[in-house]
Amino acid sequence: MPLELVTVPCLADNYAYLLHDPETGMTGVADAPEPGPILAALANREWRLTHIFLTHHHWDHVDGVAALQAETEAEVWGCAADAERLPRLDRAFSPGDKATFGGEDVEILDVSGHTIGHIAYFFSRSLLLLSGDSLMALGCGRLFEGTPAQMHASLTRMAALPDATLVCSGHEYTQSNARFALTIDPDNPELAARAAQVDKARAQNTPTVPSTLAEEKATNPFLRAQNSAIRAHLGMETASDTDVFAEIRARKDRF
Ligand code: ZN
Ligand code: FE
Repeated sequence: MPLELVTVPCLADNYAYLLHDPETGMTGVADAPEPGPILAALANREWRLTHIFLTHHHWDHVDGVAALQAETEAEVWGCAADAERLPRLDRAFSPGDKATFGGEDVEILDVSGHTIGHIAYFFSRSLLLLSGDSLMALGCGRLFEGTPAQMHASLTRMAALPDATLVCSGHEYTQSNARFALTIDPDNPELAARAAQVDKARAQNTPTVPSTLAEEKATNPFLRAQNSAIRAHLGMETASDTDVFAEIRARKDRF
């Protein structure tokens, strides 16, 4: 049985995700922006929190950990290499490690770029990717610590996962990401259709996450550095994929 997934809006524009295994009762939360909405979502379903999956150390992803731990006995997972900047970890992983949750394999991927030591969790049976602030709906995280080459490698790693994978990312930035994406990939009909869908969802205050990896590959300019129409639009027909990605990221920073 696949995991049940619940999207939990937190703070101004963050998302947490509950992952619940109906067979074992295990319930994890991906990132912990603040305890209130997460505890309320658990209580509504009478689920008991057993795991906290941290993607990276930024305050808007970890500030709720202490309060969640005070209310539950959840074990905290995170990246070993970033342990000194994260809350105390019960399980510290290195990229490439495999874990299990509710009887399914979880792959730990290095997705550094936004920060160094940013990891993603891929639940291989349910096809869920907890991508934090690395791969986002129609976007990717700002490069606070890593290089463009590093983020491009991280995104390429995630793009190799199955198309049906649900990308569970950390923020509701999709509408402004869509406006930017249209400046890079203006003749992409799938992007235009998705941008219209996003506007409609946001007008109804509906989350635009999770998205599928197939949608991201078709419309997210940060996954499309190899696309010939984008390259022609940027005048970068012969540049490397990494250089095209770096240009798109630089333009987003100025957008
Ligand atoms: Zn962040
Ligand atoms: Fe964030």
